Amino acid sequence: MQNWQSLLKQSITCAEHLPANLGGGDERINKVREIYPMRINPYYLGLIRQKNDPIWNQCVPRMEELQDNVCMEDPLDEENLSPVPNLIHKYPDRVLFLVTSQCAMYCRFCTRKRKVGTGRMVVTSETIAAGIDYLRKNPQIRDVLISGGDPFLLSDSRLEEILKAVREIPSVEIIRIGSRVPCTLPMRVTQRLVRMLKKYHPLYINTHFNHPLEITPQSALACARLADAGIPLSCQTVLLKGVNDDAETMKELMCKLLTIRVRPYYLFQGDMTRGTNHFRTSIDTGKKIMRSLIGHISGLAVPTYAVDAPGGGGKIPLTPDYVQIEGQQLVFTNYLGKTCFYDNAGG
Ligand SMILES: *Cc1c(COP(=O)(O)O)cnc(C)c1O
Ligand code: SF4
Repeated sequence: MQNWQSLLKQSITCAEHLPANLGGGDERINKVREIYPMRINPYYLGLIRQKNDPIWNQCVPRMEELQDNVCMEDPLDEENLSPVPNLIHKYPDRVLFLVTSQCAMYCRFCTRKRKVGTGRMVVTSETIAAGIDYLRKNPQIRDVLISGGDPFLLSDSRLEEILKAVREIPSVEIIRIGSRVPCTLPMRVTQRLVRMLKKYHPLYINTHFNHPLEITPQSALACARLADAGIPLSCQTVLLKGVNDDAETMKELMCKLLTIRVRPYYLFQGDMTRGTNHFRTSIDTGKKIMRSLIGHISGLAVPTYAVDAPGGGGKIPLTPDYVQIEGQQLVFTNYLGKTCFYDNAGG
């Protein structure tokens, strides 16, 4: 067994095994994890400094998850947008292909909370074969996002079979892998895994960091290995109350991501997923945070703030408004709040 596999085996999955100062023995945790599974591997557990901190909030179940009367099971309408199980075809030229239900840590705010890590998500060699068959029959698909769950929870050989089959389809131009493993279990990114991945270029990885405390020597090493293999790395952060909903934290996170060669890609407004309502902030909070980033830090560190529209409408950018008066003479404010003009009549 590899090191990461034995770490994963030692994960905490119930209240009894959680240290007492972090909520250990709390029966409410067990009530929640019966519905929404808990898995905190020893590496991610080690990032927690205290109860209710931004790391604890991401991984330890809370009763609020069972008391959400606002949000929906499947807000993005993924089940209805799946022509075959575990393949979501929403945009014309790209699909999301779910290849496992397992993750290295079950994020409490997960969009696929309704099924990730549970028997409600069934991935088999048949569903994967059906997905690949669908890609073959739909040559307008040029971009395949392999996700789950977390694809890096599969063995190297199982993941390679999937990558190989997808890469053999001539109409597929790029492959993306969505994985939180560089953040939640970075030791999974072994030299062996990376040697395998680089055979399937052009390959992109979208990872997912939400707080500067998640950037450690281990996660930096995982990202360095992937980047050294020529894999462009980007990040899909989720805006979360009690984790990163303030300007200073977000600024530090975005700048630190660039130092480990990860390019901020999206900052997502929290989806309306049942069991995650307590994590949601207002869009106004998000726009204020974006204002504190744009112009103040390297443009490379600024993600696109977006909401994934309920009902499967797709991702909609939410840009703070800098324009004050539209028309021939455009009046706008710059990042410092200073008024600027632009003569819009020319051209
Ligand atoms: C997010 C998403 C994509 C990819 O969107 P990009 O904006 O290209 O990153 C593709 N399919 C589905 C179903 C998605 O939810
Ligand atoms: S790693 Fe991704 S899929 Fe897995 S629980 Fe977290 S958000 Fe959900």
